[in-house]
Amino acid sequence: MTVGRGGRRDFRELAADGERRGYPRLIQKRLPARIERKGPFGSVPATPKTAGQMLKYAAKKVYYYGPRYECSVCGSRTRLRKTFSFNFPVLSELDVIGGEYRVNDNCPVCFSGARERLLHAFLRKSGLARAPRVLNVAPERGIYESLFRNHPGYVAIDIDPQRYDYIPNIRHGDLTQLKFADGSFDLVICSHVLEHIPDDDLAMREIARVLAPRGKAILQVPLAMKLEKTIEDPSVTDVKERERRFGQFDHVRIYGPDYFDRLRTAGLEVAFVSAAEAIAPQSVETLQINPRERIFLASPSGLSRTPTLLHADQRRSAEHDDEHQQRFVLPV
Ligand SMILES: [Zn+2]
Repeated sequence: MTVGRGGRRDFRELAADGERRGYPRLIQKRLPARIERKGPFGSVPATPKTAGQMLKYAAKKVYYYGPRYECSVCGSRTRLRKTFSFNFPVLSELDVIGGEYRVNDNCPVCFSGARERLLHAFLRKSGLARAPRVLNVAPERGIYESLFRNHPGYVAIDIDPQRYDYIPNIRHGDLTQLKFADGSFDLVICSHVLEHIPDDDLAMREIARVLAPRGKAILQVPLAMKLEKTIEDPSVTDVKERERRFGQFDHVRIYGPDYFDRLRTAGLEVAFVSAAEAIAPQSVETLQINPRERIFLASPSGLSRTPTLLHADQRRSAEHDDEHQQRFVLPV
C-alpha cells in the first residue's frame, strides 16, 4: 500500500484497512506502525527489548542508513524519510503549523515526525524529561520508549488506552475530568490533543488544576497562521466534513491565535520557545525540524515569566536582558 502520496485517498485506504483489522477508532499516531508491519522489517519500538526486536531494529538501521537525516528519538541516521501526513486543502489554505502536510517527514526506523523530534529534543535539552511527576496525555510511542519507560513518576493516560499496547500501565483518563489531586504533576505533556476535545476550556482548566505551582505543561496544537480566531463546530460529526473544515477526521476545530487567550482564561500563562531555542540551532536542519514550529510551554498563572528552562548561557543572558525575555514570551 502506498501511504501519504495522495493525502485524502490514501487516508481512506488506511482507515478502511484499520477497520478491517478491527480498530474502530483510528488515530493518526497509530496508523504508520500498522502499515509498516507489511514492510520488509515490520514495526519495532524505539528502544527494542527482546532479541527479535533488536535484530529487526538493527536490520532497519542498516537498511535505511545514510548521512542525510538524523532522528533525535531513536538516534538513527538515515538516507530517506517517509511521508505519512494528511494533505487536506484547509491545512495549506489556512497555513496550519504543527499539523500541516510534510513530505518525507517521518523517520523510517521509529516513524517519528518533525513535531515529535522537536518535542523529544526539547524535553531532553530543557531537563524537563527529568521532572519528578509527569502526566502524559495520549503519549507518543517514541517519547515514551526513549524517555519515560523507566521513569518512576510517569503516568500515561488516554481516553482509549487499548490503543497503546506498548505502554503496560497506561490508564483510562478523560482530560475534562482528571482523577488526580490538585498540584499532582510537575510536567504535563499534552501534544495534539486539545483540538480533539469539544470542551477544551474544561480540559485546560483541568491541566491548570493538576499542575504543581511551579509545574510546566507542553500544550502543542495545530495552529492556523491565517486565522484571526479559532474555527470550531462540535456539532459536526461527519468525518468528511471534519476533514474539509478542520483538516482531520477527528478534529473539532482549528485553533487561531486566540488559543493562547483561551489558555490564559483557563489559568495558564504561555511562553513560546522557538525550535532554535528549544534545541541546538544547528540541529534544526539535521533533525529536519520545522523551523516555524514552537513549543507552547504553559505554567499556572501568577508565576514569574522568567524562562528557567533555557540552558545556562541563555538563562544568564535572559536574566540580564529584558529584551531577550520580552522576545521569549511574545505571542507568535
Ligand atoms: Zn527515529
